[in-house]
Amino acid sequence: MKKFLNAIFIIVPLYFIPMGCAYNKSPSSDLLVDNQQIATPINPETARSDCDTLVITCIDYRFAAANQDFINEKLGLKDNYDHISIPGSIYNLVNPETRDLLFSKFALSVKLHLINRVIIITHKDCGAYGGSASFGSEIAENETLCADLRKAKALLIEKYPTLEVTLFLESLALEGNEIKVHFEKIL
Ligand SMILES: [Zn+2]
Repeated sequence: MKKFLNAIFIIVPLYFIPMGCAYNKSPSSDLLVDNQQIATPINPETARSDCDTLVITCIDYRFAAANQDFINEKLGLKDNYDHISIPGSIYNLVNPETRDLLFSKFALSVKLHLINRVIIITHKDCGAYGGSASFGSEIAENETLCADLRKAKALLIEKYPTLEVTLFLESLALEGNEIKVHFEKIL
């Protein structure tokens, strides 16, 4: 009996050691390998108290890189804009149910950074609208999105009369073998 108990005392700890190791094993491929710190330099000019532009876009990943390039390089706003990225972009401003939420974030941007210009970018085939198919036709989609852009502009100017609001509608287009993002200014 004593021999049997001794065997249990030896076998039981041996059984738990590998389990403990397996439990403590850290994930092998992390975004931050070995928890190293990553530092990115910023433009010294951003060390000021305000920017003057707020950009509102949809979250859609297909347009993210093109949006950054368009805002930074084509509009020349690099390091000089706040950015609200929200599913549907203006859909949330036009929709009375979510309008207050977007206005509250907008008010914070105006208060903190003295915003006097807003650039709204919305896009075709937006999931918040149910995609292109939900409109029935390309013309209907275009008309709805342009009408929503203009309504969003009117709502913003109604609340902040001195605001300058610029509107863009973007879409994906196949050019040769490349898919490109087209930006159209909406008046
Ligand atoms: Zn979208």
